[in-house]
Amino acid sequence: MSRHALRSPTEVLTRGFDPALSLGSARPAVFRSSTYVFESPEAGERAFALANGHVTPRPGESPGLIYARLSHPNAEILEDQVVPLEPGARAAAVFNSGMAAISTIFLACCPRDTSFVYTSPAYGGTEHLIRTLLASHGIHGIAVPAGDTPALTRAIAAAPDLRIVFMETPANPTLVMSDIVAAVDAARERVERPLVVVDNTFLGPAFQQPLALGADLTVYSATKYLSGFSDLLAGVVLAADPAALQPVRSLRVLLGNILQPDECWMLDGRLPTVHLRMHRQSKSAQRIAEAVAEHPALLRVHHPALFADPEQCRIRDAQCRHAGAIVSFDLRGGRGAAFEFLRSLRIVRNAVSLGGVESLACHPASTTHSELTADERRMCGIGEGLVRLSVGVEDWRDLRDDVMHALSGL
Ligand SMILES: *Cc1c(COP(=O)(O)O)cnc(C)c1O
Repeated sequence: MSRHALRSPTEVLTRGFDPALSLGSARPAVFRSSTYVFESPEAGERAFALANGHVTPRPGESPGLIYARLSHPNAEILEDQVVPLEPGARAAAVFNSGMAAISTIFLACCPRDTSFVYTSPAYGGTEHLIRTLLASHGIHGIAVPAGDTPALTRAIAAAPDLRIVFMETPANPTLVMSDIVAAVDAARERVERPLVVVDNTFLGPAFQQPLALGADLTVYSATKYLSGFSDLLAGVVLAADPAALQPVRSLRVLLGNILQPDECWMLDGRLPTVHLRMHRQSKSAQRIAEAVAEHPALLRVHHPALFADPEQCRIRDAQCRHAGAIVSFDLRGGRGAAFEFLRSLRIVRNAVSLGGVESLACHPASTTHSELTADERRMCGIGEGLVRLSVGVEDWRDLRDDVMHALSGL
């Protein structure tokens, strides 16, 4: 069978790790060394010349290891093994966190006095980055409301010296989707060819595959579904064209934010179960969303399986395979009801973050999105009564009962 015939849940277990390089060990060893011994002074010279891009590798030559801030065996194994999880990917780079990955992309690809377009609301940390560090470095963010395709394509056509189109779809915590193909088409009209970058944390890699739709980079908080147990921080960037990743990798060397060997090893061991976990979590979330949709304590349930807006349904059907495991509830009673609901949950814990095997719930207006002004929150649909639920792998009927019980007290 040719390599290309393999599907990603198989490839992730069969590619990118050679047991012969780890004494025959069936799973990778951990290489914690900070530095690597050269075979000869000439080999050291050659390794530096390659790393600095002064010479091009000969056919079959791989750049030798030098020092772990540049790269190390566990990063290389992880980067090779994560690529087949994302259809269309040909290269990956791993970071200390999702925010490290996102910050490095912006700083590597947007010089001073350039601009980028982004869908809003974005993850709280990303909003913060855009308003503080990037703004103070003369990197100008142009916000477009999530889901507004005409506004997105207009902004991409009009932005001065545009370097990046940054999309988070579905948006956190409202789950509004933005059209990736429309952004790719609009970006290709620009002579500067801005990079289309998709934060794929919520639905990827199982249910949404932006590189296959023409995006240039996908970025993940691997802290969430990729690692899946709420016990490590990591970020991953994947690229359709390895050359697009080069500036990001070079800046990673300077910032020193490559993912550490132990974390690489842990994350690597979680990759083969990403599809299993995400399918289970998404199915449970859809069942819970449907079971509570008509509850009188709720104004609205946000979940892609329950979309009614025709444009949102069109985008979902064009770019997503399943609806994902985040459900948000708009409670009638505002903040008081939301806090009471969180207090009444018995199984689901009140914490930020998402994507783990355990279910978590939070109140975005007072936590993850508290840095937005009340007006900004209103404009992007983050009400005082909104609660975000990340569905884990518990039995969905127990989770449904927990949510129903907490709603019944309101
Ligand atoms: C959590 C998250 C991030 C940030 O990732 P960290 O690993 O916490 O740095 C970025 N984007 C989205 C959508 C997230 O959920």
